Amino acid sequence: MGNETSACNLSDKAIAKLESAIGKEFVFLDMPHRAVRSAVPAPFPLHEWEKHIPDVVVMPQSTEEVVEIMKIANEFRIPVVPRAGATGLADGAVPLRGGILLDIKRMNQILEIDEANMTATVQPGVGMMELNKVLGRVGLFYPDDPASYPCAIIGGRIGSGGFSLIGGGFGHVPDLVISMEVVLPTGKVIRVGGGGGK
Ligand SMILES: Cc1cc2nc3c(=O)[nH]c(=O)nc-3n(C[C@H](O)[C@H](O)[C@H](O)COP(=O)(O)OP(=O)(O)OC[C@H]3O[C@@H](n4cnc5c(N)ncnc54)[C@H](O)[C@@H]3O)c2cc1C
Repeated sequence: MGNETSACNLSDKAIAKLESAIGKEFVFLDMPHRAVRSAVPAPFPLHEWEKHIPDVVVMPQSTEEVVEIMKIANEFRIPVVPRAGATGLADGAVPLRGGILLDIKRMNQILEIDEANMTATVQPGVGMMELNKVLGRVGLFYPDDPASYPCAIIGGRIGSGGFSLIGGGFGHVPDLVISMEVVLPTGKVIRVGGGGGK
């Protein structure tokens, strides 16, 4: 299993624990699921995606499941790379050392829209287009407009500290995010920022 640059300890025991934590159907060991998540659309000829195929892909749905994944990764010393839309141009979503590729696209719930305070509470896998469709129904919009707008996802926008042209008027991603729930590499959950929401 794995690839030539993988430096991880993905044992049968670790796989069994991942399957028990988030369900066998959301733990992918087959090559198509893994290979497709080694590539990014960055137009650079230097990429050697075949050398960066993750050992396993996991698709959790909740913070609790991410916590379990991080605890297992920590126990077995397996590298973890989160992946949103994978349009980042700095290879942040490429699993350079193999290991666990944590695809966040099932974490796609809009949890709350607070019209009075003009805030939205979302899971990280929500696409900006999707969020703006929902916000548009109440006359609001999320003012982030990168050229990758149709494919970039909230978690990846935050992960890459994104900017956009209309950010000159409304603020860029770091200005727009007022609080976050973060799972640390140990599995500990912290909340940062003073924002409201669920
Ligand atoms: C055609 C094109 C045009 C672009 N135009 C712009 C532009 O105008 N402005 C701009 O700022 N960028 C632009 N980009 C770059 C890219 O779209 C942005 O960097 C975008 O923010 C990445 O979002 P993503 O969902 O694809 O994230 P990904 O590439 O999947 O991830 C980005 C980083 O965030 C991390 N990450 C993802 N989810 C999480 C999570 N839940 N928790 C912790 N870490 C996480 C990843 O590991 C990675 O390090 C462009 C890219 C392309 C291909």
